[in-house]
Amino acid sequence: MASDQLVEFVRELYQTNEFIPLHAPTFNGNEKAYVADTIDSTFVSSVGKYVAQFENHIASFTGSPRAVATVNGTAALHTALHIAGVTRGDLVITQALTFVATCNAIYHMGAEPLFIDVSPISLGLCPKAMDLYLQEHAELTEQGCIHRETKQTIKAAVPMHTFGHPVELDELVAVCEKWHIALVEDAAESLGSYYKGRHTGTFGQCSALSFNGNKIITTGGGGMVLCASDDLGQRAKHVTTTAKVPHPYEFYHDEPGFNYRMPNLNAALGYAQMEVLESYLAKKRHLAQQYQAFFANSDVRFITEPAYASSNYWLNAILCPDQETRNTLLSETNDAGVMTRPIWQLMHRLPMFKHALRGDLTQSEFIEAHLVNLPSTPISG
Ligand SMILES: *Cc1c(COP(=O)(O)O)cnc(C)c1O
Repeated sequence: MASDQLVEFVRELYQTNEFIPLHAPTFNGNEKAYVADTIDSTFVSSVGKYVAQFENHIASFTGSPRAVATVNGTAALHTALHIAGVTRGDLVITQALTFVATCNAIYHMGAEPLFIDVSPISLGLCPKAMDLYLQEHAELTEQGCIHRETKQTIKAAVPMHTFGHPVELDELVAVCEKWHIALVEDAAESLGSYYKGRHTGTFGQCSALSFNGNKIITTGGGGMVLCASDDLGQRAKHVTTTAKVPHPYEFYHDEPGFNYRMPNLNAALGYAQMEVLESYLAKKRHLAQQYQAFFANSDVRFITEPAYASSNYWLNAILCPDQETRNTLLSETNDAGVMTRPIWQLMHRLPMFKHALRGDLTQSEFIEAHLVNLPSTPISG
């Protein structure tokens, strides 16, 4: 695949000779009206009607009993891990192939990540690799799943739905149940992605969404904790609002809390974005089909949704035949004003996670060396 052919194709898709970003937000709905409404009402901060409206819309869209808005996706993950019972010194299984926020949330619980390989089908946490690692290194005791060598508790597993492609959830749920490990989905990239018809982020007790500026919908910055029951939702709300016990005027807080509330200003933007999400999803699916057709007879493999899933195709991605082709493609497309990106460097290469425990990471390393993300903004019209 020659870079100039790709550049020409992408310019034709977006009908522009200007710079083409990887993923830009689009505001063609009621965004301005709702945001202006928060300013007119003076309710721009944590109190205001849009927070509850946005939460309710996300809950019904995803089929979650309760959704709790937060200030960003990392805060939502931090909250979800807290609710899942992760405590200081625990191990939390996750992918080395993820955005750093997943591991930062684990770190700030006082826990440590344990890196397991990804599946070539989903690019997310591989259930087989996880089970194999646990068979070799863990045992199930009265206290839960214990790492044989370090004696730490393996408390939770955080699979991440890479670029919106759902992980193999039935198998992961089974492995988590077998080993008494809590499942916390990092669904930051997968709003609008379904596993066998069920929305991602609804398979464990709680999970996290992100509405950062580059995500499928944005609130400027924001996140959401999806909760599997009203009770868990209550706990998420409580701990993200400084654990304040409701009272007309007294200040009483019954545990160390976070101030992770999403301002009404941001929720107004999110509520308007939810009104157009379905149309974004249709446009993104169409865009992915166009890329897929373009790469059909080339030496490049376009990443498609797994057979069991419907993906939001948040970021389109290809696997190049070798690392040198990948490097050339990256530099030539970026030089030509068409933004492409490599995948994140694997987490165990970063200084703060280089000593973390890990299993075999062959698939993760292969993907790291071959993958390129392509412009993925939904095309208007
Ligand atoms: C975007 C993202 C997050 C959360 O990011 P915030 O910027 O804090 O909203 C977490 N995990 C993954 C995999 C992400 O892509």
